[in-house]
Amino acid sequence: MSDLSSLLRVTVIGAGVIGLSTAYELASHGHKVTVVSDQEPLQTVSAVSAAIWFPYHSENSPAADLLLAHTLERFEALSLIPETGVDLRFGMDIERRTDADRSWTRHVADATVVDPQLLPEGALSATSGTVPVITMPTYLGWLQNQCRQLGVKFEQRTITSIDELAAEADTVVLAAGIRGGELLGDDETVYPIRGQVIRLANTAGLHEWLSDDDHPLGVSYIIPRREDIIVGGTDVDYDTNLKVDEQIATDMLSRAISMVPELAQCEVLEHKVGLRPARETVRLERISAHEVPVIAAYGHGGGGVTMSWGTARRVLELLEA
Ligand SMILES: Cc1cc2nc3c(=O)[nH]c(=O)nc-3n(C[C@H](O)[C@H](O)[C@H](O)COP(=O)(O)OP(=O)(O)OC[C@H]3O[C@@H](n4cnc5c(N)ncnc54)[C@H](O)[C@@H]3O)c2cc1C
Repeated sequence: MSDLSSLLRVTVIGAGVIGLSTAYELASHGHKVTVVSDQEPLQTVSAVSAAIWFPYHSENSPAADLLLAHTLERFEALSLIPETGVDLRFGMDIERRTDADRSWTRHVADATVVDPQLLPEGALSATSGTVPVITMPTYLGWLQNQCRQLGVKFEQRTITSIDELAAEADTVVLAAGIRGGELLGDDETVYPIRGQVIRLANTAGLHEWLSDDDHPLGVSYIIPRREDIIVGGTDVDYDTNLKVDEQIATDMLSRAISMVPELAQCEVLEHKVGLRPARETVRLERISAHEVPVIAAYGHGGGGVTMSWGTARRVLELLEA
C-alpha cells in the first residue's frame, strides 16, 4: 500500500486484459481507479484470445522478457484459485524452422526438447512445457469482480480526447489496445493482425495444447481450456475484416483434426475474429503532452494476456516513480 498522501485518482481507458489487470494492480495499492471503456470485457479482443501464456507476434526484448516472467509468476499463483479460470497445462510447440524462437522456454521450469520420434511429419524439432492456459470469459469476469471489490468504478463511454479526462483524473492510463495510438495522436505504428478462431466444446476431455505456427497449410494451434477448445488460427497483418471467413474456418478445422483426430467429435460452439494490437515494441511509458499525465500501455500484439501482469506492475512503477 502506498503512502496516503501519494494516492492518486487514475482513469484507465480500456477494459480488456491490460486495462483490467492494471486497474486491479493500482487499486490494490490504494489508488482510486475508474475504468472507462466503450466495450465491455467480453466484447474486447482479449475475450477472443486463445489464451495461452506464450509470446506470439509480440515484442522480443529484455524489457518484454520481464513482462513475460512476472505475468507467468502471477498466473501460476492464480492457478491455485479455481474460480479464476487459470490452469497450468502441458503441451508442445512444433518447430519447422532452424531459427525457431525458444525464448519462452527459459521461463518455464519443465520446458524440454521433445523426443524426435514424437514429431509430426515435416517437423524439425519441438519443445514442450507446462504453461498457463486461461479460460478468458471466466477470467475476465473474475478479474472485473475483483476490481469492483477493490472499489474500481466502471463507466461505459467512448473517449475522443485524452484532455476530456483532465478534470477527473490525476493520471490517465491508456490501455486502449489497437486504438491506443490514435487517442494520443503521436503514434501511427500500431497495426492490426487479424486472428480467426473456432471455439469447440471440449467433450473429448482434452488437456494438452499443441501449436504448429509454421504448419505448411497455415498457422495451427489447439488450446484446450476448461469447457471449450480454441482452434486457430490466422495471422494476417493489416487485415481489418471482422467477419468470419467460412472457408478459412473449414480449412482450419480440418487441419486441426488431422493433428488431433479426437476434435472431429467436438461440437462447434462459435467462430470468433479479433484484431491483435501489434506494434514493434509495447508502448509502456509516461507521456506529458496532454492536459493530464498519461501512461501508455498498449501494443501487445499476440501476447497481451502473456504480458498482462508484467504490464500492470510496470504501470504502477511508472505511476509511483
Ligand atoms: C485470435 C487471437 C488469439 C490470441 N491468443 C492469444 C494468446 O493465446 N495469448 C496471448 O497472450 N494473447 C493472445 N492474443 C492477443 C491478445 O488478445 C491481445 O494482445 C490483448 O487482448 C490486448 O489486450 P488490450 O487490453 O490491450 O486490448 P483490448 O482487449 O482490445 O481492449 C481494448 C479496450 O480499450 C477500449 N477502448 C479503446 N479505445 C477506446 C476509446 N476511445 N474510448 C473508450 N474505450 C476505448 C475498448 O473498449 C476495450 O475495452 C490473441 C488475439 C487474437 C485475436
